[in-house]
Amino acid sequence: MLKKELLLVPGPTPVVDSIYEAMSQQTMNHTDPRFASIYKKAIEQTKKMFQTDGEVIVISGSGTLAMEMALVNTVAAGERVLVVSHGYFGDRFLNLGKAFDVEIDVIQAEWGERVSIKKVEDKLKENKYKAVTITHADTSTGVSADLDQLVPVIKRHGALVILDGVCATSAMEENMNKTYGEHGYRIDVVLTGSQKAIGVPPGLAIIAFNQSALSVRNDMEKVPAYYADIHNWIPIMNDPKNYFATPAVNLIYAYNHAMELVLNEGMENRYNRHRKYSKAIRAAISVYGMKALADEEEAATTLTCFLYPESIDDVVFRSELANKGVIVAGGLAHLKGASFRIGHMGNATKEDLEIAVKLIGETLIQIGQEADIVKAVKYFNEAFVSEAVR
Ligand SMILES: *Cc1c(COP(=O)(O)O)cnc(C)c1O
Repeated sequence: MLKKELLLVPGPTPVVDSIYEAMSQQTMNHTDPRFASIYKKAIEQTKKMFQTDGEVIVISGSGTLAMEMALVNTVAAGERVLVVSHGYFGDRFLNLGKAFDVEIDVIQAEWGERVSIKKVEDKLKENKYKAVTITHADTSTGVSADLDQLVPVIKRHGALVILDGVCATSAMEENMNKTYGEHGYRIDVVLTGSQKAIGVPPGLAIIAFNQSALSVRNDMEKVPAYYADIHNWIPIMNDPKNYFATPAVNLIYAYNHAMELVLNEGMENRYNRHRKYSKAIRAAISVYGMKALADEEEAATTLTCFLYPESIDDVVFRSELANKGVIVAGGLAHLKGASFRIGHMGNATKEDLEIAVKLIGETLIQIGQEADIVKAVKYFNEAFVSEAVR
């Protein structure tokens, strides 16, 4: 049994000691100038991470609150939204739409594949959409969205681009200053949560609006929200000594420190590290005869969904692995029982993942499968040496 359990699910992710330490500092009054300066710094660092000159809001809640904020602050009842879905979380926008009388159309990819750009374009021609949501890294399938293809097509049709970064932010590129296509289009809104690639315990909703998205909000007289209305939060984010609703003081300490870790590592280094993780895990687990659901070129670099051979019982495998101290997630929807998902993001280290590769091998042997652990570990390490990361 490992001294510390390895939580390798697609969020929450391993929390490093320095983040726990930041979090366990004495709770200050939320309007204390010392806390206000920490909060302000957390916001400024988030703006740097997204490279945005817009507004960033970091408040108590989960990724789902951030999804709700993205929707209610840009789309009014009766208006239409197109959801580009590579798995499970597209349906969440469908339910959100129902709650706010927003018309939602979902283009659902075959699980494991990307939505065809042609289908997106056809839909955009058929209807007038106020916004299009894209799941950057889909947590159920491990498929990533192709922003280079999607953003120009969506923006050309005049819709806002809302990016669900819950399983990607800080690990996969979400640069809001980056231009896409020849007309210089940009991503308008990115939303995320603290507990995935950022590596903070669950509890914070994070959202960034660029200037176009802010002006869309300004044009809407009122929105069907109070806590989720960004107009109630922007003055607080600009001067956290003001009060609207009590922030999660200790989580903000943790988040501020996590942002320091992100920016000190450097965005390109962090993206590259995740590319290596993804390549290494895929190479190692394939030695055990398990295939990743998503093709390598289309895969998210933050998690992988592996399909079991017939002979493996999901519950037995995952519980034996958990007994050794490694927690992975089961498959969702029709892949339940037929697959498992492993998160390899945030502050999980190469050593953590190497241990997981070994213990997965030992578990397989224990349940009567064949597993060449030496070869898996070799393939794992080779992925870090080769320069040829995609
Ligand atoms: C986890 C996740 C969510 C939901 O976030 P919660 O923090 O669980 O509310 C939304 N979208 C994606 C892509 C996710 O991975």
